[in-house]
Amino acid sequence: MAFGWIDEQAALRRRAGLVRTLRPRPADSPLLDLASNDYLGLAHHPEVTEGAARAAREWGGGATGSRLVTGSTELHAELERELADFCGVEAALVFSSGYAANLAAVTALAPHGSLIVSDAGNHASLIDGCRLARGTTQVVAHADPEAVRKALTTHDGPAVAVSDTVFSVDGDAAPLAELAAVCRTRGAGLVVDDAHGFGVLGAGGRGAAHAAGLAGADDVVVTLTLSKSLGSQGGAVLGPARVIDHLVNAARTFIFDTGLAPAAVGAALAALRLLRREPERAARARTVAGELHARLTAAGHEAVRPDAAVVSVRAPSPEQAVRWAADCRAAGLAVGCFRPPSVPDGVSRLRLTARADLTEGQIERAVQVIGETRP
Ligand code: PMP
Repeated sequence: MAFGWIDEQAALRRRAGLVRTLRPRPADSPLLDLASNDYLGLAHHPEVTEGAARAAREWGGGATGSRLVTGSTELHAELERELADFCGVEAALVFSSGYAANLAAVTALAPHGSLIVSDAGNHASLIDGCRLARGTTQVVAHADPEAVRKALTTHDGPAVAVSDTVFSVDGDAAPLAELAAVCRTRGAGLVVDDAHGFGVLGAGGRGAAHAAGLAGADDVVVTLTLSKSLGSQGGAVLGPARVIDHLVNAARTFIFDTGLAPAAVGAALAALRLLRREPERAARARTVAGELHARLTAAGHEAVRPDAAVVSVRAPSPEQAVRWAADCRAAGLAVGCFRPPSVPDGVSRLRLTARADLTEGQIERAVQVIGETRP
C-alpha cells in the first residue's frame, strides 16, 4: 500500500507516547498564556491589528507575486528601512517567515567548498539551512567558541559560523562577542538567528547582536522573525548592504517565494514603531522572565536562569511533561511542552514565555498552578 510506512511510524510514535495533535485555539481563550511567543504583548495591540487591516485594505490580501516580480510594495521597503535603522545595520530584507530567512542566509552564504560551523543547539531552520547549503557542515558543541575556533582552523576557504542568539529550548544566550572574535581571526562570517533576542535584549529591544556591540559589523548577519516580539508574521535578514544585495540575487527562498502578505508587513511596522515609542517593553519582558525564574526555583523547580524571555522548567519524563502541561491547561494556564524528538538532549521541559504585559498577579497565579500540578 502506498505510504504504508507512515502507519508503522505512527504506531511507533503512539507506543513511545510522542504523538502530536493540533488544538485549534478559540479567539476568546480564557487561558492565561505563557506558551505563545508574543513577548511584548503586541499581537493584539490595537495599533498592530489596525496596521494589518489598513495594509490589507490598501495593498490587498496577498503580495500577488514574488518579491522580484510584483511582490515588493512600498510598504515592504518601508519595513526594511525601519528595521535596518532600528538595529543599526546597513540593510534589511523581509521574508515570508523566519524559517525562510534562515534558509536564505545559510544557503546563500555557504557556497560549494565552504565550511559551515553550526552550534549543536541551533533551531531546526538553521539546521535545514545547513542541509540545503552546498558547503560542508560541522556541528560543534553548544555555546562553545573554542570548538568553533578549532573547526574553523581545519578549513581554508570561505567559512561561516551559525548560531541562535538565544536558544529556543532552554532560553540560554550564545557568547556572541566571543564567537565574532573567533570568526574574525579566521576571516569567517557569522550568521546569528535573533528570533528570541530581538525585541527583548539590547537597548530598547534592538537585539542580541546590538547588545554584543556587533550592530553594523561587516562580517555579521542577523536573521529575525517578525512573529515573536513584533506579534506579526514573517522574517528578515539584516546586515551589510552587499550581503543583502547578494541574497536578493542568490537566495532561493527569497527569489521563488511569494512576498510577505501586506497585512503582516503592516502589523510588523506598527509593532516596530510601538517598540521605538515604548522601549520599556523590552526591559519588562526580561524582568518578568527573571521573576518567573526566581519564584519557580524558590518553589523547588529546576528552571534554567533565563537570558531573555524564555523560561525552561525540567520535567522528569516526556509522559510527565505532557501530563504536567495538560494539567496546567485544565487549571487555566497555557504552557509549552518540549520533548523528544524536538529536543536534541532528550530532556523534556515545560517552556514558559515571559510576556511584557503579564501582571504580578498573573505571574503569581502561573507559578501557583505549575506547583500544584507538578508530577
Ligand atoms: N528561529 C528560531 C530560533 C525560532 O524559534 C523560530 C520560530 N519557531 C524560527 C527561527 C522560525 O521563525 P518563523 O516562525 O517566523 O518561521
